[in-house]
Amino acid sequence: MGVIQTSDSDTATSDAEFCAEIRDWLAENLSGEFRDLRGTGGPGREHEFFEERLAWDRHLAAAGWTCLGWPVEYGGRGASVRQQVIFHEEYAKADAPARVSHVGEELLGPTLLAFGTEEQKRRFLPGVRSVGELWCQGYSEPGAGSDLAAVSTTARLDGDKWVINGQKIWTSLAHVADWCFVIARTEKGSSRHKGLSYLLVPMNQPGIEVRPIEQLTGTSEFNEVFFDDAVTEAGLVVGEPGDGWRVAMGTLTFERGISTLGQQIRFARELADIEALARRTGAADDPLIADRIDSAWVGLRVLRAHALRTMSEDTHDAGGASVSKLLWGNWHRGLGELAMAVQGAAGLVLGPDDMTAWQRLYLFSRADTIYGGSNEVQRNIIAERVLGLPREARP
Ligand SMILES: Cc1cc2nc3c(=O)[nH]c(=O)nc-3n(C[C@H](O)[C@H](O)[C@H](O)COP(=O)(O)OP(=O)(O)OC[C@H]3O[C@@H](n4cnc5c(N)ncnc54)[C@H](O)[C@@H]3O)c2cc1C
Repeated sequence: MGVIQTSDSDTATSDAEFCAEIRDWLAENLSGEFRDLRGTGGPGREHEFFEERLAWDRHLAAAGWTCLGWPVEYGGRGASVRQQVIFHEEYAKADAPARVSHVGEELLGPTLLAFGTEEQKRRFLPGVRSVGELWCQGYSEPGAGSDLAAVSTTARLDGDKWVINGQKIWTSLAHVADWCFVIARTEKGSSRHKGLSYLLVPMNQPGIEVRPIEQLTGTSEFNEVFFDDAVTEAGLVVGEPGDGWRVAMGTLTFERGISTLGQQIRFARELADIEALARRTGAADDPLIADRIDSAWVGLRVLRAHALRTMSEDTHDAGGASVSKLLWGNWHRGLGELAMAVQGAAGLVLGPDDMTAWQRLYLFSRADTIYGGSNEVQRNIIAERVLGLPREARP
């Protein structure tokens, strides 16, 4: 399938076999009880078939199709980057459902592999790998979003427990998660990046209250999370106490890594569907709409070229990740706008029962340029770390 060019014929053969294996498995297994899950759970539709998608994730796990890149000793396949790309592309091509366990697999797992103790790895990685436990990310607070170093949630060590007080916000999937990785201030009187710790906190306890936040789509993918003398074990700090900033930044470098190429296949399908709609309704005869569709196809090629380049360089270059986030965030937000333009006045009318998939896409894609670091924050990173421009004033 030639996702990444190779001159090694053995590698190409084994990649082709790997590709056929996953393609056959998906064709065989996205049937029966899972047949109706194709295409579910996309942007703005996270609420769809949650239990069924969870069962699907566990089915994938039981067949060894989760955490492919992890070392074999921790339950992975030790798959190469190329094989992981193949997996994500085939997964998207099969229109398989959006995963519900991505926070554990893509964020917490790699963080534990990089920074966790052996005991933490042995305790938590199996639950992530089997989708036995779901995770959420407790970073943002009402006063700490882009400026994450302003975190004010505190944790103090009391005997063999951390006692946590404060509030997190916009915590995706907190209402279904078993565990949360929480950034908390553990050194009294400390400020900014110093004195923070990265704690693993069980969600199911009296000291934690989760309140859903209703989104523009009318559903609640994210939440407020209140910690009122919540507790976790003293040993559940990743990295050294007080060194949580380094670990927290490590997690962010894993956000949207290799799965980006699968994401682009889904983007291409959304664009193809919009183009088909434009042809059916005659909207494609409008030269301005036709031009926007063409530009979107070109934009998609740019996304792909950029993703392949940064992956083949095999670096964790902050500039590359920021360029990627800017490119896909803006592209996908623009796609939501294009979907509305193609529908014309009809797109402004709500259906009798629910929003259409296009309306959901449009509303949810407004968030694409905010989560995972806003456009402005990405531009600051590129300006300072790549272009070497003067740093902006900081508190
Ligand atoms: C769908 C969704 C899911 C999310 N899931 C999670 C999650 O699971 N866990 C979690 O911890 N967080 C989550 N977030 C929160 C997300 O990380 C924050 O929204 C994001 O970091 C921005 O922070 P903020 O909302 O506080 O906005 P602010 O930081 O207050 O920013 C407000 C505006 O000011 C701009 N701005 C801020 N600082 C600067 C600057 N220095 N220079 C120029 N402009 C600036 C921003 O770009 C933005 O336009 C989620 C957000 C969304 C939308």
